[in-house]
Amino acid sequence: MTQMGVTRNVRSEVARRSRGLCAYCRAQETVVGMRFTVDHVIPRLLGGTDDLSNLRWACWDCNLIKLGRIAALDPLTGEQVPLFHPNHQAWEDHFCWVESGRFAVGRTAVGRATVVLLRLNRAVLVQARERWIEAGWHPPET
Ligand SMILES: [Zn+2]
Repeated sequence: MTQMGVTRNVRSEVARRSRGLCAYCRAQETVVGMRFTVDHVIPRLLGGTDDLSNLRWACWDCNLIKLGRIAALDPLTGEQVPLFHPNHQAWEDHFCWVESGRFAVGRTAVGRATVVLLRLNRAVLVQARERWIEAGWHPPET
């Protein structure tokens, strides 16, 4: 969560590569109207680096909810599995949208565990998505 080691240039590059999308909930900062932040996919406390390969753009809520975690329980099997790694895995392989984009659903154990842990269908987000869908702004293109 802390960004002391991430330079301004690296931060800009992470934002550019992510096209302003949260790597997890897929909110778009131009829709939310707020700059997002740099997420250490593997937290520094667990050995994650400030290298671009470990950094991803994320909304503040996803970043704060995730904190130092890298694994969670798959609600289907109860087994602990790694969280979604947005730099090694494709969002579409692990999640899909249902109800025109109102809800993100996990397609895999990793996806299901990430949906639950990061609360990817938090009430405020679902309410916002309903408006974004009406406006044609959501789901974002992949
Ligand atoms: Zn998010």
